[in-house]
Amino acid sequence: MELKELLGSSFECRCGKTHTVPTEKFFYAEDAFGSITGLIDTYSPASSCLIIADSRTYGVAGREIADLCKNGGAKCSCFIVPDHDGESPTVDDTTRDLLLNRTADSDFLLALGSGVINDLVKWVAFLQHKPYIVVATAASMNGYASANVAATIDGLKVLFHAAPPKAVIATPDILLNAPYELSAAGLGDVLAKPVSSADWRLNHFLFEDYFCQFSIDLLKDLEPVYLKNPDKIRNRDSDAFKALFTALFYSSIAMTITGTSSPASGGEHLVSHTLDMLATRKSCSHDLHGRQVGVSSILMAALYERILTIDQPRFSLPPSQVDETFWGALTPAVAKEYEAKLPKMSRAVEILNQPGNWEACKSAIKPHLIPARQLKECLRHAGAVHRYSDLRFNKAPVTQDFFVSVVSHASQMRSRFTILDIAVLLEIIPEETEELIVKWCK
Ligand SMILES: [Zn+2]
Ligand SMILES: [Zn+2]
Repeated sequence: MELKELLGSSFECRCGKTHTVPTEKFFYAEDAFGSITGLIDTYSPASSCLIIADSRTYGVAGREIADLCKNGGAKCSCFIVPDHDGESPTVDDTTRDLLLNRTADSDFLLALGSGVINDLVKWVAFLQHKPYIVVATAASMNGYASANVAATIDGLKVLFHAAPPKAVIATPDILLNAPYELSAAGLGDVLAKPVSSADWRLNHFLFEDYFCQFSIDLLKDLEPVYLKNPDKIRNRDSDAFKALFTALFYSSIAMTITGTSSPASGGEHLVSHTLDMLATRKSCSHDLHGRQVGVSSILMAALYERILTIDQPRFSLPPSQVDETFWGALTPAVAKEYEAKLPKMSRAVEILNQPGNWEACKSAIKPHLIPARQLKECLRHAGAVHRYSDLRFNKAPVTQDFFVSVVSHASQMRSRFTILDIAVLLEIIPEETEELIVKWCK
């Protein structure tokens, strides 16, 4: 389906659901800002528009957009979300409450930013039933049009429902000139797609969970553009960036229409979330989401390759408790997720030990996968991080021991069943964790 047919549409899908796409417009063009005043008129004719940015994103286009709005006759003001401990703002309840207060008198919100600013505005727009649009400042993540926000509450990542934007606006000029590590992170996030869709298909096979092939196929035509031409991303080729940004956008649409993050988030995201949670627990910094996801995606693809070589597997149940030494103060929250996962683990063992099921399971997941080598080479040629030691935790490179430990425990932190769990049931985790990490991520 063409993008313009998809936007704002509602249609019956072969998966059995009626999909509704709440985002109605997508602009990627040099003159994309020309659409802003028209959008304000459409969605909130008598509006007072509040432009929300942080100090960095305001510098990118804040004044230009404010002038455009004023010249177009819209009542418009700006709010710059304050930094958090000298770093970028965070998506948490304190910042949300600050914004709820500041946006109370505005009818229309314009987010100028990427991950954090877009998430904050999407959250507040939902709570206040207000329309919002986003002007993207980087092709850094796949959450632009998703309906969820991952916020940090008391040190834990918690998912909240939120309102997708009415429109996503990007200019090649801004995206191409954004700090390159942000675009490279976006590539890392979108490269999770093959392994996360394999994880999703795995859940469909084992537990008959809901699954939608249509949402996966949305990226089918775009994927080869960046996968086969990573050098073009590195050289800031306009067409390659368009493909990357559009793929990130489609990826967020896939999550919104299916009502789950499963099309774009599997075991690799659990590794990334674990790094985030450990950092929050220690009140220290972690790396960019997409950088963590990119490195972890290589490893997940390698784990899939490893399990596909096994013909006569022996599945055994994992420990019934989470590792308190590793999780520390996070143990109660993690234990709750893990408890919800244990029945799935038993069920998976029961199913996969029945004759013929392992072969059928392998055939179901295989078509979704891309070789680990190809993912690694794509990231490497794009100048993106592809080794654990490229990642920063507490401002220092991630060490091998720490990464091995994170990967070995990541499956415990969410009830979602992924390749990490299959690896645990086959005892590849912990027995071969280090070997695979050395082979693929060193
Ligand atoms: Zn569907
Ligand atoms: Zn992600």
